[in-house]
Amino acid sequence: MHDRGGNILMAKIFCVANQKGGVGKTTTAVNLAAGLARIGQRVLMVDLDPQGNATMGSGVDKRQLALSVYDVLLEEASIKEAAVLSDKCGYWVLGANRELAGAEVELVTLEHREKRLKAALLQAEGDFDFVLIDCPPSLNMLTLNGLCAAHGVIVPMQCEYFALEGLTDLVNTIKQVHANLNADLQIIGLLRVMFDPRITLQQQVSDQLKDHFGDKVFHTMIPRNVRLAEAPSYGLPGVVFDPSAKGSQAFVEFAQEMVVRAQRMPTTAKSEAKLASSA
Ligand code: ATP
Ligand code: MG
Repeated sequence: MHDRGGNILMAKIFCVANQKGGVGKTTTAVNLAAGLARIGQRVLMVDLDPQGNATMGSGVDKRQLALSVYDVLLEEASIKEAAVLSDKCGYWVLGANRELAGAEVELVTLEHREKRLKAALLQAEGDFDFVLIDCPPSLNMLTLNGLCAAHGVIVPMQCEYFALEGLTDLVNTIKQVHANLNADLQIIGLLRVMFDPRITLQQQVSDQLKDHFGDKVFHTMIPRNVRLAEAPSYGLPGVVFDPSAKGSQAFVEFAQEMVVRAQRMPTTAKSEAKLASSA
């Protein structure tokens, strides 16, 4: 795709990351992917977690993958070869399964091991408007590949007592990657998920988040919603499984917010570095 000036439009690449387990990363990755697809964006969802939840939750059977993100990281396949279209969800899936757990060890001895995903995406990014990367719950070599490939990080978080403390390690890692490996990288925003406004503590933590991070906190909040939790057992994101559910509507709203944020993002590493250092 080209813009009016004839330049090739490149995908905006976002990691969904938080080293804490079970905070809603995968739910965010698949529902944002489905929400973006719904509003006409071309989306690739990359599953970087050997659990393969984002793969299964997009209607792709992780046990039947001919090629996966593992083969891409080991340069045995291109993204074009390994990604599959999820018909029901309307986006492409570069899937993962348990095989990916071995990649961490195998990558250790290889050159440019943290930039394998970035190199692969460079070949494919003209084909998509958005690439979303679902990271595992740790700051390992797989997550590092995600962070090195991305323009920005989306951090889903629950508004609980230790939420801010837990962010420190992630923010430090992102700063280090920004300084040493990927000058494009910035935190795009913190997404409040599983939010229940009736719980006073959640309101308080939400207010604290806004005090600390200002407009880095997304306007959209994702409510706790049982339809979002039920959808994975049908192999679908909530947005596809039950579009009228409150949680699904919130994710479509979030997709719209992301389109606006992506349009506002600077396009060169240099201008992004400037932005990050002034933040
Ligand atoms: P992991 O660290 O293991 O990869 P994760 O951060 O990807 O976990 P999810 O798998 O997305 O987290 O979510 C954890 C659980 O919470 C799942 O059972 C999911 O269905 C449920 N869940 C996520 N978001 C919501 C929500 N907004 N409302 C209700 N349940 C939710
Ligand atoms: Mg997950």
